[in-house]
Amino acid sequence: MSDCIFCKLANDEIETKVVYADELVCAFEDANPQAPVHVLVVPKKHYQDIADEVPSETIARVFEAANKVAKIKGIDQKGYRLITNKGADAGQSVFHWHVHVLGGKTLGEGLI
Ligand code: 5GP
Ligand code: ZN
Repeated sequence: MSDCIFCKLANDEIETKVVYADELVCAFEDANPQAPVHVLVVPKKHYQDIADEVPSETIARVFEAANKVAKIKGIDQKGYRLITNKGADAGQSVFHWHVHVLGGKTLGEGLI
């Protein structure tokens, strides 16, 4: 999608701090981190959100990449949180499906 910022970041059209990438997914540092580790994992292909008919393999590969990111960042032992927002009520602000990898500190116990 030509005017999508995450399409551009994930496909090397805009420079960013890439943590992990392969042919299907890209993981880069969040521009406004909410925790000491805050990385976004996105498919290179554009999907609006998790409900946008994302192929099962892509969903699996994004979550596998999130686990790899946690290892790369050294938070896999202490733990981390994976979040995906869908739509306005959930606070989604960028409409290219992404999973947040959050960690590096004790996170709040609540889900909301
Ligand atoms: P959402 O609210 O859609 O679940 O999350 C969007 C995330 O994207 C936010 O955490 C926000 O800080 C991040 N973000 C928005 N624009 C950019 C950008 O241009 N570059 C990067 N690296 N992150 C961005
Ligand atoms: Zn996109």
